[in-house]
Amino acid sequence: MGPCPFALPLPMSFDLVLFGGTGDLAWRKLMPALFQAFRHGTLPPGGRIVGVARDALSDAQYRDLIRQRFEHVELAKRPSPEEFERFAGLLHFQRMDLSKPGDYAALAARLRERNAGTVVLYLATAPQLFTTVVEQLAAAGLNTPATRIVLEKPLGHDLASNRAINETVCRAFGERQVFRIDHYLGKPAVQNLFALRFGNALFEPLWRRETIANIQVTIAEDLGVEKRGGFYDGTGALRDMVQNHALQLLCALAMEPPISADADAIRDEKLKVLRSLRPWTAETLGAHAIRGQYGAGAVRGMSVAGYREEAGVAPDSCTETYVALRAEVANWRWAGVPFYIRTGKRLAARDAHIVVNFRPAPHAIFRTPLSASNQLVIHLQPRDGLELHLLAQGQENRRQVQSLTPVHLNLDFDQRFGAERVGAYERLLLDVIDGRLNLFVRSDEQEAAWRWVEPLLEAWKAGGDTGLRPYAAGSWGPSAASAMIARDGFCWSEEQ
Ligand code: NAP
Repeated sequence: MGPCPFALPLPMSFDLVLFGGTGDLAWRKLMPALFQAFRHGTLPPGGRIVGVARDALSDAQYRDLIRQRFEHVELAKRPSPEEFERFAGLLHFQRMDLSKPGDYAALAARLRERNAGTVVLYLATAPQLFTTVVEQLAAAGLNTPATRIVLEKPLGHDLASNRAINETVCRAFGERQVFRIDHYLGKPAVQNLFALRFGNALFEPLWRRETIANIQVTIAEDLGVEKRGGFYDGTGALRDMVQNHALQLLCALAMEPPISADADAIRDEKLKVLRSLRPWTAETLGAHAIRGQYGAGAVRGMSVAGYREEAGVAPDSCTETYVALRAEVANWRWAGVPFYIRTGKRLAARDAHIVVNFRPAPHAIFRTPLSASNQLVIHLQPRDGLELHLLAQGQENRRQVQSLTPVHLNLDFDQRFGAERVGAYERLLLDVIDGRLNLFVRSDEQEAAWRWVEPLLEAWKAGGDTGLRPYAAGSWGPSAASAMIARDGFCWSEEQ
């Protein structure tokens, strides 16, 4: 991808156009994030937020709708009436049917009359509309050097559809104008992973095959598909969580130190990781990839329905709600080190974390088994912090001086820096307005990720429900996932 042909102007003023301005994402995530930035004084002054949808709303009606929706936002992030009054001054509405080319001229005229230094076009609408919208934006002359376009996931449902969208986008915009969101990259914990690895000299010498036995990435949700059964049934856990979030985490864990904090320096290194992932073979497709689907069970003491009984889900659905993979980064640093990835819905807890298991001490002089020691745990959600698990001389048994006790050095970032830190969408929206691409995904990264998961998508589609393993809601997933990791002599973090 060539460099941007334009120099982007500084955001002295901005217009942020929210296509899908009345949708679920807009009111649950984007408006609260924009409000937080406004409240914290980090939103550049002189901005305008223009919601777009098909409803015929006036600016006043749109403000009223957003005000009502804020009543469902958690209390700490809800504006007071006075705060909302001031925030509402930024909100405007443009009625458009995005599938109708004739509707783009009015938006273009509205944006031109103000001629803001930065125009952000945020596509928070159905992905089927992306190609049409991008083509029509270009036809209406809205792809100026001042424009930044934001694309929500999912960007395609396989490699071919991802490429088709990216080709359309790249015909209209330079790569440095395109902000592909993976909101995991905006999480403070993920930025702390970069800080841990590249801001401290302590871990980097240990961050390699000689000292690390395996790395585990867990993104567990206790929720089911909620109201998004129809969407999820056509998507599944591999597309929804692994192709994007889990592989981005794997990149942050496995990448080489970038030469600078420049966006392309970081993205070049992440791309190398994705290209180093060992391709799937007939053997590893069977042995190193587990997919499951939840049945009825109990989560936090409440009985819940199985996946096939959820609204919007086909009664004979073969969509996976759980995935566990054993990946390998085939390069000099990581050869032979398994990276285990697992994610699922209706699991025992909402818990996203990474466990780096270091190799045991080479020679045991103490009586304590050393297998559970020397772990670095990176908590992503709901906690945000680091734990270093070590063995120490405890006081439990005064005569057993040769036994050691596991102890945890615990760094809780919420306690240390306050829970009111910049949230993922707030961080990412500010980065778009300021033109910082570091936390956004480049098209070649996305393609490499799709290329790696595609054999799994094809094999699972061909397999139907053969190999789709049931698990009870509220459990940690199918037992086959434990068996997969046990064959390497390891176990998942909660089994230790
Ligand atoms: P949604 O609730 O269905 O909202 C869709 C929005 O697009 C509505 O404002 C809708 O308004 C508008 N829209 C639909 N068709 C339109 C058209 N032809 N012309 C103009 N506006 C149109 O969807 P969502 O959940 O917000 O998701 C939006 C995007 O974000 C999707 O790509 C989704 O995959 C992605 N995403 C969502 C979430 C989430 O938590 N919701 C998370 C990650 C990614 P009208 O129908 O009134 O026109």
